[in-house]
Formats: sequence, C-alpha cells, structure tokens
Amino acid sequence: MAKILIVDDRQVNREFLSTLLSYQNHHLLEAGLASEGLAIIRTEYPDLVIADILMPEIDGFEFVRQIRAIPEIAATRVIFYSANYVESEARALAKACGVEHVIAKPSEPEQILKMVQEALGITPPPASTVPSAEFDRAHQRLLIDKLAQKVNELESLNTNLEQRVKERTAELAEANQRLRELHTFKDNLLMIASHDLRSPLSVIQSIATMILENPVLPESTHCAAQTIISSAKQLNTLVADILDISSLEAGKVVLEPIIIQIGFIIDQVIENFRYSAQFKQIQLHVEVSPQDLVVFADWNKLSQVFNNLIGNAIKFTPNGGRVSVTIKREGSQICIEVADNGIGIPNEAIPHIFEKFQRAHPAGTNNERGSGLGLTIVQQLVELHGGRIEVCSQVGLGSTFRVYLPAI
Ligand code: ADP
Repeated sequence: MAKILIVDDRQVNREFLSTLLSYQNHHLLEAGLASEGLAIIRTEYPDLVIADILMPEIDGFEFVRQIRAIPEIAATRVIFYSANYVESEARALAKACGVEHVIAKPSEPEQILKMVQEALGITPPPASTVPSAEFDRAHQRLLIDKLAQKVNELESLNTNLEQRVKERTAELAEANQRLRELHTFKDNLLMIASHDLRSPLSVIQSIATMILENPVLPESTHCAAQTIISSAKQLNTLVADILDISSLEAGKVVLEPIIIQIGFIIDQVIENFRYSAQFKQIQLHVEVSPQDLVVFADWNKLSQVFNNLIGNAIKFTPNGGRVSVTIKREGSQICIEVADNGIGIPNEAIPHIFEKFQRAHPAGTNNERGSGLGLTIVQQLVELHGGRIEVCSQVGLGSTFRVYLPAI
C-alpha cells in the first residue's frame, strides 16, 4: 500500500484515478491545483504523485521543477497523466525532470495500474535531478509548440464553422423563399375560392327568398327555405371574413380616412342590431361624453370593427341581458368601450381570442354561429388605424372590449 497524491484540475479525472487506485488499497490524496499539490507533498511526503500537465497557473513541468528544487521533496516519484503531452519531445522533457512514466489520457485501467506499480518499484530519482537552463528552454519551446498547435486547431475549427454557417444560411434563405411562395399561393387560392363561392351563394339566397315569399307553397317548404337562407348568410359571412383576413395579411387593405364623429358611427351600427337585440330582449345603451368626439378613420372599416364587437356582445349575452357602449376621451386617445353582462370568456381562452379561428364558445346563447375570424379582423383594423384593443372578462359576469384610437 502506498501514499499517492493525484494532482489534476478536473475533478472527474481525480475521481477516476482515486476509485481505480483505491481497489489496490493505496492511500490517496487529491489536489486540484499544482500549488495545492506542492503544499501537500511538503507535509505528507507521498510515495508517488500522479500529475496532469495542462493545468491552470502552474503546468505539470513547472510543478515538477518546483518539487525538484526543494531538497526535502526533490526525490519524489512523479507520473504524468496527460491527454496533450504524449509525443516524444514531451516525454524527453519529462525524463529531463526525472519523470519516467507518462500515461496517456484516456488509458485502460490495467495499463494505469501497471505503470503505477512500475513507478512505485523504481528507485526514486536522485535529488540532483534539478532541471537545468536547457530544461527551461525545452519547456518553453514545448509550450509554444502546444500553443501553435492549439491555434491551428482553432483556425481550422473556425473555418469549418464559417463554412457550416454559410451553408445553413443558404438553406434557410431557400426555405424562407419557398415559404413565401407557399404563402402567396395560399393567399391566392383563398382569394379565388372565396370570390368564386360568392356568386353561387347569392343565387342560392335569392331562390330561397323567392320560395319563402311564395304564399302558395306549404309551411314546411317555407321552413326549409328559411334554413337555406340562414345557412347561406353564415357561409357568406365566412367567405367575407376569409377575404378580409387574406387582404389584411397581404397588406392589401388601404384605409380611406375621413373625420368622423364617433357617436354617429356607433348610432348607425346600433341601428343594425335593433332587431336582434329586441329578439333577445337585450337592452342597448350608448353613452358619449362629450358629444363631439372625433377620429380620423375609415368609415367602413371602423363600422366593421363595432359591428363585430356589438354583434358579439349580443351573441354571447343571454335573453334579457344588457349591452352598453361608452365613448370617452382619455388623454390623447378616444376610448370606445363595448360591455355586456353575458356569459364571459374563460381566463385560459382570453389570450387566444384574437387569433384566427379561435373560439371560446361553439356558438352564441341562441345558437348563433360564427367564423372565429371576427376578432382577428377587428384587432388588425384597429391597429391599422394606429389604435389598440383590450379585453377583460369574467365567466358568468360579462365581457368588456375597449378600443383606443388616436384623438384629433
Ligand atoms: P366568432 O365568429 O366565433 O364570434 P370572434 O373572432 O368574433 O369569432 O370571437 C372569438 C371568440 O371570442 C368567440 O367565439 C367567443 O368565444 C369569444 N367572444 C368574443 N366576444 C365575446 C363576448 N362579448 N362575450 C363572450 N365571448 C366572446
């Protein structure tokens, strides 16, 4: 059993050697730095030191040079354990400072144990193995060679990396171009499909209306005609929404802004909903303060925004509920608030309701249908006007949508 000191800046290497040598009942000591190793040698006088060469602060050669310079420990047996310094110059330099054994990292455990046994068996180097000036020069040469070798390795790694970055960038640019082409193709397809759906739809609607208005036909036929009309209307809305979203996403929507008294536009939109609100016995309430609040906006697009918000408020409010629209000035902005005391939106759905085709409810409280595109269009139109939209909602209590537009 021998006392062996392992000096290596990497803990995994120290642990590996310690575990391996402990099977042979050696007494093991460890140091992470050469300076710590030196202090241990001076107090513990190990039979053998296994030292790494490439270590921070003091490398293995300098470490051994310092050992050899202290008379009481100069004869310490040392083995180098290194991944970097295994060629003949390094071995010659090791020999020059009395290190006979150099174990290459990694090595088979049997090989390491054999070398340790050999090193423990040999006569310790004479105390006169104090390295000479020639040793210092060879040590420096070796360090410079190692440095040059590392620089070369780094340069070739760098060249490889640059080449790979170039290749990946080219691949990405190609994928991007393909994606753009597919996107344009999809937009065109949607546009054509939606346009082509419109004319047969209006034919269906007019024929169904003619059937509905024909008093000679039986009640069951009238009912069927009514269903055809409402389904065709629904499909028409979907087609219109798809066309709108395609144009918005393609950046093809151009605003035609005019000065608009915001109260007027709301009154007009509210008028569109008189019948559906009455049908559900929903109270519609509008409050504008002051009366002459104006914005610079596109009349049709802004009507579309409030048609959608007020339509949704009625759609998702049960019979007998209340929908109110409040318009007020807030600093440099005009805030238009559409509030209802309807079914509300679940918390987890709120962050997604402005995304395309996202619906928190399958239908309105009277089974009214929707496309799931309305709020996406609303948000994009509001942002096109330089504004923003916010929502807060509580299930069972209702929802409030706030549109902020720049005031003039
Ligand atoms: P939809 O055509 O389904 O109304 P929207 O994009 O207009 O599509 O709205 C998305 C979803 O947001 C709706 O399906 C509904 O779940 C929810 N939502 C919108 N407005 C309200 C509201 N006032 N109250 C409750 N839920 C609402």
